[in-house]
Amino acid sequence: MKPVLPLFIMLDACGWEIVKNDPFLKSLAPNRRKLNSVFGYSSACVPSIVSGHWPEEHRNWSYFVYDPKNSPFKFLRPLRWLPKALTSRRIFRRWLTKFVRSKIGFKGYFDLYNIPFEHIAQYDFSEKKSPLKPGGMNRGDNIFDFLESKNINYFSSNPDLQEDKNFPQLISAIEKGSIDFAFSYWPGLDGLLHNVGNQSPEVPAKLRDYEKWIAQVMQAAKGHYEDVRLYVFSDHGMANCDELLDLKSVIEALPLKMGTDYAVVYDSTMARFWFFNALARTLVHEALNKVPEGRIISDAELKELRAFFPDRYFGETIFLVREGVLIVPSHMGERPIRAMHGYHPSEKHSFATLFTNRPELPDEIVAIPDIHTLMVSEAQNAKTANSRSVVLVA
Ligand SMILES: [Zn+2]
Repeated sequence: MKPVLPLFIMLDACGWEIVKNDPFLKSLAPNRRKLNSVFGYSSACVPSIVSGHWPEEHRNWSYFVYDPKNSPFKFLRPLRWLPKALTSRRIFRRWLTKFVRSKIGFKGYFDLYNIPFEHIAQYDFSEKKSPLKPGGMNRGDNIFDFLESKNINYFSSNPDLQEDKNFPQLISAIEKGSIDFAFSYWPGLDGLLHNVGNQSPEVPAKLRDYEKWIAQVMQAAKGHYEDVRLYVFSDHGMANCDELLDLKSVIEALPLKMGTDYAVVYDSTMARFWFFNALARTLVHEALNKVPEGRIISDAELKELRAFFPDRYFGETIFLVREGVLIVPSHMGERPIRAMHGYHPSEKHSFATLFTNRPELPDEIVAIPDIHTLMVSEAQNAKTANSRSVVLVA
């Protein structure tokens, strides 16, 4: 038996509102806390958790950026001649995404989503490496770099595998008894919530499944470690989308040409603009200011949210809709989905959660990047305790 195993399990989209009235993990991890999330999608939240830094520092924020010079997608331009009925189909996009990912050699999560082929050569994808692996951050280090630098034996889930494949791998790593730290990422709840919304009976059913899995993991861990320090946490929550906003039509009605006057990425809750002349900026701003479903986020507010980029890499103007509104069609999807995240972090369904079986949680753990602090201190503590016990046995 080794003395200590810190066990960190991340449940994507298991937000505070999802669990606040649910007895989730009441017996396995009764100490729970509501955490502030980070402005952005999982592409911003997950890197913030694993690095302990905010988007302005690590520069992992939104996936697509206007960057024609560095665009790796030029070879896809001929596809603009294909009929939209084919190219906007999810199944076609999925197949093409796989092909493009291997051709370009991206190591992180990648999806072509719904970026039109007509304009795709103007965009770059900002997450070329996986933040869930060592060396995976756009800037700075993550927890996996730390674990490697300190020679701490660890398990981390393979981001290319589904959670039902990662879960048994976690158990077998624990049963070998050689690791001093474990990090496992389960994205299934996020996908479910996007499809069925946050009020579906399928959501508590999924929570019960996770409880069973976590109980099995704990049982395995207790067979090999005296003290299993369990932390289960999320990156953000999930809001139902009850209002649709066709922002693309509003912008395309202006006497401006995409690619000549401006460029834009329509995310599902944000639109990010780059301008190539003053008239375009004025007209787009005027149009956005008349859209009651959202607002332009000022530089001052972006700075407060720690998602301000002085080089405007992710866009010069960031327009954000209020919770419950979905921009559709967008570059993320042609058709509506039931629920979404990526709203303002102060919106009700943005908040994340942290559950633990530890009686005490330091007061300074208030936002998801603080989970990194916990991971570092638990990993160091386990390494010290576990190597001391090895010395004693020897
Ligand atoms: Zn999601």
